Amino acid sequence: MGTQLMLAGLEQGNCGEAWNLTHPERVLAIQRRYAEAGSDCILTNTFGASRIMLHRHANEGQTVAINRAGVEIVRQAFDGKPGYIIGDIGPFGGLLEPYGDFSEAVVREAFQEQAQALVDGGADAILIETQTSLEELLLGLEAARQAGANCVIGSMAYDVTLDGSTFRTMMGVDPERAARFMEEHGADIVALNCGTGMDMERARQAVVRYKQATALPVMVQPNAGQPKLVNMKVVYDETPEQMVRGVRPLLEAGANLIGACCGSTPEHIRAFRAAMDAYENQTL
Ligand SMILES: [Zn+2]
Repeated sequence: MGTQLMLAGLEQGNCGEAWNLTHPERVLAIQRRYAEAGSDCILTNTFGASRIMLHRHANEGQTVAINRAGVEIVRQAFDGKPGYIIGDIGPFGGLLEPYGDFSEAVVREAFQEQAQALVDGGADAILIETQTSLEELLLGLEAARQAGANCVIGSMAYDVTLDGSTFRTMMGVDPERAARFMEEHGADIVALNCGTGMDMERARQAVVRYKQATALPVMVQPNAGQPKLVNMKVVYDETPEQMVRGVRPLLEAGANLIGACCGSTPEHIRAFRAAMDAYENQTL
């Protein structure tokens, strides 16, 4: 979504979530392209729409309105076709005490407010994504549960280690620990998204490790390759043709939901959709 908002004219550092209220037609145009590309699930444009994140842009007074509008825009994008609205909650953007300045109570309250607005607006599921610490993940999972979400998804961002031998989150969490933790704390789906060095093959390895640790469904959203700096802009250059080669191995490893994160486009999703349909038809 961030990549698409930039293409639609959002400037680096500005508040893309506020566009749900100020430029809903532009957000809708993006979401429609995903619906047309064959997405069954579309994330709301609310990654940074917790009160704490919105405060950076002095938009915290519109927290509820921004989240509810994000749900409504996805509903319009599906235009009556069957599809799931995934209410998206990203990190609150800081560190919890004792490492940082944010008390658990403040973050809990912010996640609860956002999750409630998304559920009240009609989100089918709540996604707590790009998480690196189990403490913050837990606050998000509990907020989603308390809001009455029908489905709660926990999604971790892993980084490949310097020696390339494995991957874990910035806060040192590995996939097995994350999966067991999520299952213990009431998640319905365990997921990964974004991260560093996490290409389709690494995502496949994570699926295998998740499946060994939990019987819950698994969702993956890798980035479209690694970020490169070109003309002072961050670009992701893995094409749909390159990325789609990883879809079948992901399905064979047992992935239940497949999407993509930074740098991906509706064309990536269109390619994924075709590969997933082909796989399904072949294995029926
Ligand atoms: Zn990403």
